[in-house]
Amino acid sequence: MNSSSVASDLELPLLTLSLGSVVIALSVVTINVIASLRNEDGKLPSLSFWTKKAPAKQQKPTTLEVTCQVKTRLPSEYSSMEHSLLLYTNNIDNEEHLALVFGYEVSEDGVYSRSLEGVREGESPRDRAVRGAVDAEKVPKTSTKKGNKDPLARIHSCCFTGETLGSVRCDCREQLCEAMKRMGEEGRGVILYLRQEGRGIGLLEKMKAYNLIDQGYDTQEANIQLGHPADARSYEIATAILQDLRIPSVRLLTNNPHKMKSMAKDGVVVSERVPMIPASWSDLSKGEFQDRDEYLVTKAQKMGHLLDVPKELEVFSTEASEKKGSIAA
Ligand SMILES: [Zn+2]
Repeated sequence: MNSSSVASDLELPLLTLSLGSVVIALSVVTINVIASLRNEDGKLPSLSFWTKKAPAKQQKPTTLEVTCQVKTRLPSEYSSMEHSLLLYTNNIDNEEHLALVFGYEVSEDGVYSRSLEGVREGESPRDRAVRGAVDAEKVPKTSTKKGNKDPLARIHSCCFTGETLGSVRCDCREQLCEAMKRMGEEGRGVILYLRQEGRGIGLLEKMKAYNLIDQGYDTQEANIQLGHPADARSYEIATAILQDLRIPSVRLLTNNPHKMKSMAKDGVVVSERVPMIPASWSDLSKGEFQDRDEYLVTKAQKMGHLLDVPKELEVFSTEASEKKGSIAA
């Protein structure tokens, strides 16, 4: 026996041993995998389990559902009365939409959120208190209207640049403040605060649109240049929140006819449109205009908003096209 045959004789059992170990290891893994696949009753899954295709892309739900997750007292400098902020989630988007309710105290003729006040399984009285729900037995079965008039309502889309940074490119902050002031004066009302920045295109695209506006496009053209609709907002979540709050009819603070149409289509009665006239338009005699004036003229002249444009501002409808023409040249 030479040295090489000794080596071969030794290697074969070693190789066999190694292969045996792999077979044993694979067997153990296989047994474990099969065990983990067994149903609770110990049976293996049916054939359909093994042939199951990858799950189809998740479809958007067809029926909108909103749920009030929490309500809290929110005193504000806009009125001396208590008012409440309600936060909603929904099954269509991942945004936290809000309702700011003026003047509806927790009392027998108050307005309640159906989804907030509903009793949730296993919750304690403390759990209810933490999310702002009243004692279950105090929730009235029906709602009654206070006063003769329907409450004021405003559907307001959030605007970081205007409301937080005080941008004068738009009138969002002014409209929000005006709505809160009027509701404070009337003692009742509701603001549906929807998270749809930049007429629904988001902050990033809105900032690009501002750059296009600075190059001479108007607000509508800028959105279209970026591949968006002139107005990408929708209002069905606002209607669903009003229905959750058991508010069947409102006096809507708006200049936007699309909001009224959307609410009527979804089942909330708009008994009156309450116009919102820009504060600066009451006196334009000094000829001092801001960016927002041009923006408002576009909304009135091109986007159907119900605003009478003062003659002092008619200059904007021609000025914009001249600016754009000079850039293109
Ligand atoms: Zn704005």
